[in-house]
Amino acid sequence: MNVEEIFASNVFTKGTMRERLPKEVFAEVEDVMENGGELSKATADIVARAMKDWAVEKGATHYTHWFQPLTGITAEKHDSFITHPDDDGKMIMEFSGKELIKGEPDASSFPSGGLRATFEARGYTAWDITSPAFLKEQAVGSTLCIPTAFCSYTGESLDKKTPLLRSMEALNKQALRIVRLFGNTQATKVTASVGAEQEYFLVDQAKALLREDLIFTGRTLFGSPAPKGQEMDDHYFGVIRERVGAFMHDVNIELWKMGITSKTQHNEVAPAQHELAPIYESANVAVDHNQIVMETLKRVAGHHGLRCLLHEKPFEGVNGSGKHNNWSIVTDNGLNLLEPGISPNENIQFLLVLACILKAVDTHADLLRQSAANVGNDHRLGGMEAPPAIISVFLGEQLEDVVKQLVETGQASKLKEGGTLQTGVSTLPDFEIDATDRNRTSPFAFTGNKFEFRMVGSSDSIGSPNIILNSIVAESFCEAADRLEAAEDFDSAVHDLIKEFLTKHQRIIFNGDGYSKEWIEEAKRRGLPNIPSMVESVSALTTEKSIKLFEKFGIFTKAELESRAEILYEQYAKTINIEALTMVDIANKQLVPSVIEYTGMLAETVNATKTAGGDATVASDLLKRVGGLLTTMQQDRVELSTIEKIGSAMERGKEQAFYYREKVVPAMDKLRHTADELERIVDKDYWPFPTYADLLFEV
Ligand code: ADP
Ligand code: MG
Repeated sequence: MNVEEIFASNVFTKGTMRERLPKEVFAEVEDVMENGGELSKATADIVARAMKDWAVEKGATHYTHWFQPLTGITAEKHDSFITHPDDDGKMIMEFSGKELIKGEPDASSFPSGGLRATFEARGYTAWDITSPAFLKEQAVGSTLCIPTAFCSYTGESLDKKTPLLRSMEALNKQALRIVRLFGNTQATKVTASVGAEQEYFLVDQAKALLREDLIFTGRTLFGSPAPKGQEMDDHYFGVIRERVGAFMHDVNIELWKMGITSKTQHNEVAPAQHELAPIYESANVAVDHNQIVMETLKRVAGHHGLRCLLHEKPFEGVNGSGKHNNWSIVTDNGLNLLEPGISPNENIQFLLVLACILKAVDTHADLLRQSAANVGNDHRLGGMEAPPAIISVFLGEQLEDVVKQLVETGQASKLKEGGTLQTGVSTLPDFEIDATDRNRTSPFAFTGNKFEFRMVGSSDSIGSPNIILNSIVAESFCEAADRLEAAEDFDSAVHDLIKEFLTKHQRIIFNGDGYSKEWIEEAKRRGLPNIPSMVESVSALTTEKSIKLFEKFGIFTKAELESRAEILYEQYAKTINIEALTMVDIANKQLVPSVIEYTGMLAETVNATKTAGGDATVASDLLKRVGGLLTTMQQDRVELSTIEKIGSAMERGKEQAFYYREKVVPAMDKLRHTADELERIVDKDYWPFPTYADLLFEV
């Protein structure tokens, strides 16, 4: 395979545009890509035609404005390039500049949180020229996908893309002020760079289809752990099995064709769990690409008789899946503002940037936590596996020491060395030890020249976390720049500012074990928010502090924030409702009948054994135990059903969401607990669907 040849072969890249567009047209496109603005109508027409010709040559029949509504996934409505045949009946394929730049999908069925009344069904999609158009090859045919932003008729954003682009502009503007203060006159643009590591599970498709819970909710709602879990650490980085390898191979080819730099693949901690990581790129492209990665993983899995589970916690008792959002800030003249260099203690610009980020994360820990909240992630965050629900920052020994010196004395004259690691083998080189060793329990860790936000859920869009990161850091950059630009003596002012920010916000730094109970207590003493669940996180969006931040930088209006909060409450209630109904259905139609059948068999055995003069104690004890649990399961099922009905009759909104969290979820847990206990004692031949052992160890 020639990777160089296939890479981006399905992308309408800048290179392709340069080749296919007249020089002046290309220059205009490039200018808008870099500096913003709008294409003229004439140019848009030429670009659209070139794009259509390219796509049609590659077999495309349709195009779509590809967008990211607030459902968290992507949406597309396909239109073919065909037009009215001419008098002779001949078909000419067409695609105009207007069609390229703007779409008007009937969008009444996308969540808008009250922003758009259903009678005003129109929504607009507008081409995000900074994210390239690409072809998706699927069974439905080849479709030209145009990445777009999605807004209401009155200009409110109805997606994750629009605020992301706004937040990138805010960060660009404020970060430029910072680098200018340090004499950088060359940079004209500062961009947030993002690399998202994606975790997922693979199970056998045929087995998954025997489980209603996997079909309807993407996770197992019942299931007792297999005798073996992840305790042997034999899956992490283990040899990739052939069937999984064939899948990964195909995924890579598909992604490479679409210009996605799938780079790293390995087995993850839990059995049947894997990871894929691309090379980082500009935040909005990374967000688009992560969506394509998720979609491709699911699609290609089907070709291999597999099912890809992106849910944050598909199986109880083994690790769930997340997404590490690696984030840095880079100037267009190649400087990463998060690069500490060899002497970070003397790198004033780096220290200022670091101080600003610590201030931002401390001030808006609630928003950052919210941005990683989704229904599935409630099972991870705050459990003993993934990062805790409390936001803190890990800096590593060296930087923590620098911060300490600065806070205590205003100077950081010493630098703890990373040192070398002696391998003790003469033929092996000794290694430089990274000064920032890795702390896997931190939700927000400095890893060399980037921050790694590890809370994001595996099925979630990385849009929200990056909107928040960009916005909160833009705010603290802005405050720093306001003060430093007005200062008479820059050197002493920057020195004071760094010390002030670090002193005020050092409580957010934590280098210890984020899973420990002591940390929960310590965090409380420090006054750090501990937000245990999604429903409790939502109100962070509409605090005065949050509205002030987002309105100041034009990222969200108050109405947009309120609508997003509404949508999240609704999503929570709806998701849990589906889970509850699925549990009731499975209990009714599969578990209760199967266990009845099993008890029938036991009863017959007891009678037959007794008649034959044998000892029926074991079967008879088992019959009693199973019978007892069966009765309990039936009661739990009725209780869940009753509680769910009250919830689904409630008016949508905050109160309903809290009802689901506080009443429905515990009732679900209760039913599951009883059913799982039954699973452990009922004859496997009677259990109505594949078990954890079948699903996790037989791919
Ligand atoms: P791991 O954290 O699993 O050891 P790496 O740290 O090498 O792996 O990279 C993880 C992800 O971080 C990759 O997607 C990589 O491209 C991305 N990444 C690396 N450097 C940066 C950076 N400066 N800014 C943003 N993302 C980065
Ligand atoms: Mg990582």
